[in-house]
Amino acid sequence: MSTIVVNGTRVRQFLPMRDCIEAMERALRALARGGAVVPLRPVVRIPGDAGGALAVMPAYLDDPRSLGVKAISVFAGNEGTVHDSHQGAVLLFDPGHGALVAIMDAGAITAVRTAAVSGLATRLLARPEAGDLAILGAGVQAHSHLEAMRAVRPVHRVRVWSRTHARAVEFAQRYNAPDLPVTAVMEPHEAIDGADLVCTVTSSREPVVMGDWLAPGAHLNVVGASVAAAREVDTTAILRSACFVDRRESALREAGDLVIPIRDGAVAESHIRAELGELLEGQSPGRLTPQEITLFKSVGLAVEDLGAADIVYRRAQGDDDVPRIDLR
Ligand code: NDP
Repeated sequence: MSTIVVNGTRVRQFLPMRDCIEAMERALRALARGGAVVPLRPVVRIPGDAGGALAVMPAYLDDPRSLGVKAISVFAGNEGTVHDSHQGAVLLFDPGHGALVAIMDAGAITAVRTAAVSGLATRLLARPEAGDLAILGAGVQAHSHLEAMRAVRPVHRVRVWSRTHARAVEFAQRYNAPDLPVTAVMEPHEAIDGADLVCTVTSSREPVVMGDWLAPGAHLNVVGASVAAAREVDTTAILRSACFVDRRESALREAGDLVIPIRDGAVAESHIRAELGELLEGQSPGRLTPQEITLFKSVGLAVEDLGAADIVYRRAQGDDDVPRIDLR
């Protein structure tokens, strides 16, 4: 029995954004129907100032039927070095007999599937005409989020802010085009002013978005902070928004953007209107009015990795150039 090994370049080739958005819909529907087993992820944090963590994310999914685990290290300080901030592997197992059928680059899977989930949230929640996009952050997720937003909404202008202005400028220069003006701004509020789509994809532990800045009717994808002590948006932003998550149980443990306002008594857990899968299954309403601000808080789930890995595996199986190894 051989195991397929798929590197990051191949993962990107086999996992176009639009296909991944469809896969995220399927996986999150299965979750909402009770068709997934997803324990909360254990995270090993390395003591010391440099930080760094290793997260282990196992899951079983009944549609597409799949079993696997992602082991991923998160070293935010790697940024700007030869190492990515997210590195690791997704291991896929045959759910019938347990054989290890594939090993694939987790960084690439994470880059695409995270933005695809935001794309799905945007498709479900943003106003149909929304297209004035603010991106906070200019790293890996900023690039994939631009692609995801363009896949689901008629993006006509992009303003990007990043802590290091040169990175925002680099991002803007890469994508600026006659039909899509992309500009780098000096301050977060300059990006958000009047925007109807906002993606926060930073490693900041403190809010970079203040709720007072948000335009009526905006939709936010809040992606960066996945620990209870860190957040990218302030309490006012949460108070002003109808909030949606990938999974309540995970968000209430891992999403500082929600955990902190709940702990401070500013909002109740019931402020989370729905999981994306519940919207897809018609179990809960989404946006109620054009003026409402909607906010999707993403923490990332192993079922999203499985849904994406399943596509990659199926395509890799049909490609003789993809290496196979025998681990026995
Ligand atoms: P990168 O390391 O590629 O980029 C990080 C970005 O965060 C850069 O734009 C950097 O700015 C900015 N940044 C770092 N520290 C700070 C700070 N203290 N204040 C403001 N901005 C800061 O990371 P990714 O793009 O891969 O990931 C972005 C975030 O999304 C991370 O926090 C990551 O953990 C999270 N994430 C969430 C997932 C989910 O499923 N919800 C999945 C994957 C990632 P600059 O370079 O300009 O200094």
